Formats: sequence, structure tokens, C-alpha cells
Amino acid sequence: MENAPPKLLIVEDEPGLALGLRDNFEFEGFAVFSAADGEEALRIAFREKPDLVLLDLMLPKLTGFEVCRQLREAGAAMPIVMLTARSQEADVVKGLELGADDYVTKPFSIRELIARVRAHLRRAAPAQARLERYEFGGMSFDFRNYAAHGMSGELILSPREFELLRYLVTRRGEVVTREELLEQVWGIQDYPMTRTVDNHIGKLRQKIEAEPGEPKWIVTVHRSGYKFLG
Ligand code: CA
Repeated sequence: MENAPPKLLIVEDEPGLALGLRDNFEFEGFAVFSAADGEEALRIAFREKPDLVLLDLMLPKLTGFEVCRQLREAGAAMPIVMLTARSQEADVVKGLELGADDYVTKPFSIRELIARVRAHLRRAAPAQARLERYEFGGMSFDFRNYAAHGMSGELILSPREFELLRYLVTRRGEVVTREELLEQVWGIQDYPMTRTVDNHIGKLRQKIEAEPGEPKWIVTVHRSGYKFLG
């Protein structure tokens, strides 16, 4: 359960944008559902119960406002992020009044949108969904108490290293970018120093890899980031 990908419903009637969003969020590990009009949006939302809805406002059949209103009236509590055109900024207030949580103005940076979506999901996620313990390679990690043991005794990791490892473990088998790690582990939104991530990965490898120069648990994915293989 804890590793089920977050479900995202993208409601957007412009096919190019809808496809671009789908590709990007699927690449980031989301299970993506798409709707091209307001009625389809409601149908999918009630059937799939997405964790978050990206909602264009100007839509065929039912507007984004109406979709938002009907979702909230039906008791749906997932975060709703509106996608608005610059000329619609006045509509943002109306959307927020109808129960939307946030908005981005087109054209937006996909990086920024992904960061916002993750931040909303993090806030919405119950605390117990966070991974508490994990074992691999003869080592055990207690992420709640920041305690770790290896074959030859206690492993001393900094809190940041525990959080970094915890995040990599929750995404095991997937490529995680440095920007995502900064966002998720450091909480930095404008990523000034991706080197910071490399330095911490280096230290973590010294502690958990038998041969830090040839890591088998946290591998580097060329030009992309890191992947945990435990
Ligand atoms: Ca539209």
C-alpha cells in the first residue's frame, strides 16, 4: 500500500498540453488518468478517486468551476489544482471559493507544477504512510528513531542521510532526480545546488556500501539522478 503510485487526474481539453502533462507525470511515477471535458472528469473522479486533480477551467460540457463544485459537494476532499490562463486570473478567486486548493497560470513550468503537486500530496498524506523501517543487505534502518545497524554494529547516519535514504527506499527501482531529492528531502523549491545531493549521496555510500566507489545499493543513473536497488 505504502508504495502505490499516487493517482492523478488531469482534466484538460487541449490535447497537446494534456499529453505533455501525462508524459511528465507518468515519468515521475504517477498513475495518470485523463479527462477532456467536465462530465468525463466527474465520471473518472468518482470512479478512480484520484489523490489529486489538475483542473483546467475552460472545458467543454461542464466548466472547471462546476467540476470543482460538484466534487466538493459530493464530499471529495482531494487537493484540486486549477490550471488557468493569464487572462483568467480574476477567476482564481472564484475557483478557490468553490474549494480548489491552488492554481498555476499557463504557461507554467512543469518542474514547478510537479513540485506543487508533490507538496499538496505530502500535506494530504497521513503521517503513518511514511516508511518507518527498512532492511536490506544485512542492514536495518529505523527511520522513526534515526537508528541503523549493519553486520558489524551501529551505523552512524545524520538525520538528513536517514531522510535521503528513506526517500530513495520509498521510490526503490525508480530513477529519482537531484531536483526531486532537493524538493522532497531538503524542501528547497528552486534547487540552487544539486551538488548538495551528490555530496550527501557520497557520504551515505561511505556508510552503507561495501565498495563506495562501486555502489550496488544507490546507483548513479547517468544524466538523470539516482536509483535505489535494495
Ligand atoms: Ca481549456
